[in-house]
Amino acid sequence: MKSIYEPARETPVAGEFDLCVIGGSCTGIFAAVRAARLGLKVAVVEKNILLGGTATAALVNEWHSLTDTDGRKIIGGLTAEVLDGLGRRGLVTEARKEGRGICRTFNSAEMALDLDRLALDHGIRLFLQASCVAAVREADRVTAAIFEDKSGRRAIAARFFIDASGDGDLLRQAGFGAWKDEVLQPVSYQMLAAGFGRVKGETGRSIWEQVRHRAADFDYPEANATPWINRFPAPGDVSTIYGPRQNGCDASDADQSTSAVLEGRRSLRALLDMVRQELSPDVAAVSLAHALGIRETWHVRSLHRLGVGELLGGVVFPDAIAVGTYPVDVHSREGTVLRFLDGREQVVGRDGKVAWGRWRSESAEHPRCYHLPYRSLVPEGAENLLVAGRLIDADREAFGGVRVMVNMNQTGEAAGVAAFLALREGCRTADVPVARLRRTLADGGSLFPL
Ligand SMILES: Cc1cc2nc3c(=O)[nH]c(=O)nc-3n(C[C@H](O)[C@H](O)[C@H](O)COP(=O)(O)OP(=O)(O)OC[C@H]3O[C@@H](n4cnc5c(N)ncnc54)[C@H](O)[C@@H]3O)c2cc1C
Repeated sequence: MKSIYEPARETPVAGEFDLCVIGGSCTGIFAAVRAARLGLKVAVVEKNILLGGTATAALVNEWHSLTDTDGRKIIGGLTAEVLDGLGRRGLVTEARKEGRGICRTFNSAEMALDLDRLALDHGIRLFLQASCVAAVREADRVTAAIFEDKSGRRAIAARFFIDASGDGDLLRQAGFGAWKDEVLQPVSYQMLAAGFGRVKGETGRSIWEQVRHRAADFDYPEANATPWINRFPAPGDVSTIYGPRQNGCDASDADQSTSAVLEGRRSLRALLDMVRQELSPDVAAVSLAHALGIRETWHVRSLHRLGVGELLGGVVFPDAIAVGTYPVDVHSREGTVLRFLDGREQVVGRDGKVAWGRWRSESAEHPRCYHLPYRSLVPEGAENLLVAGRLIDADREAFGGVRVMVNMNQTGEAAGVAAFLALREGCRTADVPVARLRRTLADGGSLFPL
């Protein structure tokens, strides 16, 4: 590739903080809030206009079970606080889903409004529409994050950093280890649309069943593409429409990401045209996602790669900082395979056909939840850096389970509290006292079984 040489330059420092978080999804904001509640001065750099990441900007508005498989509540903290706040205003709907317990669909626009208030009430300095593009590193320490926004190129100096960008944009720029699977989970592009609930309600059949025979005529990508249509909690007939899964896209590559956004919008347009022509002229797009829905790109090279055997075996790590029950859920060109903690397996083919089986015998003992270790967030060799969210070090199948937001939110909270402890104890990230970490998390509202 042809390149040009840019001369060295001086970069102004926009602020000095105890903690700088890259990425303002719920993961990043929850990290920032937990650290601020413990007294740290915190900045968050977010490239979108909205806080909330995939939950808001990409319109992925469903959070899974907060209980173990026996129905005992195991996830609290900021996940429960935010859901309770939305729920009090009637902006959350609940539905029991096979093998997944009670799932909550929330109004993602109002969640973004709540996250603004949550961050500002905690005195967090927000840099929005600002992308982290480089890092300054001295030996094992990150000393500054460089970001670009409308004002140009600036730096944030901090004593501690958390990379919650999902793509490792600070981690990798600082030269710490990261890896990427050969086959990544697919990306999808979403929209809000009006009229779909009524169309479905009148026939009782899925909209896809009714229009799929026309998919080829409208150049709608049929394979693996059944659109997921989910009622949006707001007055009127508004639904979230999940676009087709696009395999083979590495969304940490800017050009591939742009192509996926354009293909996502093209196929949503095809779906709207099919439904208008086949079922009802009274459907329309209301709003398009502000971001591509990204399931997976990079993972940190950490002190411990979480394996699927540990996950589904319910291994209780001494440094467990998060718990969950969402099944291993790996999407691929061939379809989707789900493995549940109770030993059941569900295979959904490219054609949408569902087959149930078992991956573990019925007579075996089944764990009621799984555990995520702190070490999977600690970059090898880093003194003052942690990751949170989908950067977690987990093998392909383990990641298929842990990647959902009720889990990722907890990794954010843990990273925020660990940042506070590392600074207070004057220790390296790897040496944060894990018993104190777990206790401080529990004191702040986390519920995981101690
Ligand atoms: C289509 C789809 C459906 C899904 N369904 C569900 C579901 O039903 N329930 C569920 O719980 N999970 C679901 N998931 C998975 C889940 O949404 C993600 O795994 C989760 O959101 C990851 O959270 P995160 O905070 O690590 O990353 P993200 O939500 O991707 O957040 C990363 C944040 O960092 C910001 N950022 C990135 N780079 C930079 C940079 N250089 N500088 C500054 N900011 C930056 C981004 O703008 C974003 O706000 C789904 C995912 C997709 C794509």
